[in-house]
Order: sequence, then C-alpha cells, then structure tokens
Amino acid sequence: MADQVKCLYCGKKIPADSAHCPECGAVSHFQERGYRAGVRRKFIFWFVLLVIFCAIMIVWFPR
Ligand SMILES: [Zn+2]
Repeated sequence: MADQVKCLYCGKKIPADSAHCPECGAVSHFQERGYRAGVRRKFIFWFVLLVIFCAIMIVWFPR
C-alpha cells in the first residue's frame, strides 16, 4: 500500500510517489529527491546560459 499525502494546493489525499496531484494537477512536493535535484540542475544551466548571453550583449552592444 502506497503512502498518501495531502496535496498542498487542493488538500486532497494523493499517493506520495505521484509527480502531480490527480485532482488539481499541481506538482507534488513529496516526491523523490532526484526529481527536484534534476530541476535545480536544469535551472542552473539556463541561468548560466542567460549570464553568458548578457555578458556577450554587454561586450558587443553598439554604443
Ligand atoms: Zn491538488
């Protein structure tokens, strides 16, 4: 039997291992740690890309 947790958004009981609430579709905050670590890595990747883009714009922006 899977553990059940309360959805943070709608308060309905949802399986602890589900990625999304089946009632309201919100992302579950009780899921495996690996998923959130992956999201954070993806965020850092896009942040670094944005910083590099800004640096290029600062250097090459016509004055
Ligand atoms: Zn919900």
